[in-house]
Amino acid sequence: AKDRGKNTYQFYSNNLDGISTWKMKLENWLRRAMEQNQMTLHYQPQFHLVTGKIVGVEALIRWNHPEYGYIAPSEFIPLAEETGLIVPLGKWILRVACEQRKAWKDAGFNDFPIAVNVSVRQFQDEHFIQFISGMLEDVGLEANYLELEITESLMQNLENSTIILNQLKSLGVLLSVDDFGTGYSSLSYLKHLPIDKIKIVKSFVDDITNHSNQGMMVKTIIDMGVNLKFTVIAEGIETEEQVTFLTRNACQIGQGYYYSKPLSAEKLENFLFEDKVK
Ligand code: C2E
Ligand code: CA
Ligand code: CA
Repeated sequence: AKDRGKNTYQFYSNNLDGISTWKMKLENWLRRAMEQNQMTLHYQPQFHLVTGKIVGVEALIRWNHPEYGYIAPSEFIPLAEETGLIVPLGKWILRVACEQRKAWKDAGFNDFPIAVNVSVRQFQDEHFIQFISGMLEDVGLEANYLELEITESLMQNLENSTIILNQLKSLGVLLSVDDFGTGYSSLSYLKHLPIDKIKIVKSFVDDITNHSNQGMMVKTIIDMGVNLKFTVIAEGIETEEQVTFLTRNACQIGQGYYYSKPLSAEKLENFLFEDKVK
């Protein structure tokens, strides 16, 4: 029994070692990935639920490791946040997204902003505002073509966040709250912040048509959001029933596999051309 106990302990500790080895490996890979152009952005269109027109595009990072293959953002973004690598990586993401948006604008697609996910760590970087304004100028893109998606966790430090959000707003960028419904913030205090849009979290959207609780919740968020003059986006839409529910309840914008998965810039352009002739 004694031996067995020891083995169990060893197995457990090896396993922990395994996790930290994987993390160290991932961290090294991550550093190299940025230098070696292993990352790209994909783009998921957002549609006006009534007119069907494209009213936004969200940039989402994709990493194809030369040996390991595809590594999901949910795997490496948290690590990038932990190590601080998200700051340089985030700058790269913002620049590439804005350059892409500029290229689409030059091709005649004028009507929608590009949304970029920004993590708390980037937001708290003291040079963030300066970076955004300098980068937009470099790229030659007007600020109202850039939308920053922030999460509710930012609201934990409300005082500091309010200052930064106001500074960003004065640059002219759009601000949206991602994954709304998961925590900290209530709509009534978001109204004191310069927020343009709220995105209802996918887990809420998932169940709207099955059971009335989730449906009621989403309906309430839409009602209050619209009353407070926010644009309301539902994310993770997969079925026609969800579209019907959301449209009936006056949600304005939808995003999800039902319409399109995130696509390469090239493939997204097909959508943009189709949209133009509508
Ligand atoms: P998110 O910002 O909430 O992005 C939405 C995620 O849901 C994306 O996963 C998207 O591909 C996926 N999705 C969209 N529509 C549907 C649908 O109808 N069904 C299902 N099952 N999924 C759908 P992805 O690209 O794997 O990203 C996961 C998360 O990683 C993102 O969640 C975001 O928090 C983070 N992330 C992704 N790209 C970036 C980035 O460039 N910067 C930062 N800071 N975080 C990012
Ligand atoms: Ca997002
Ligand atoms: Ca989200």
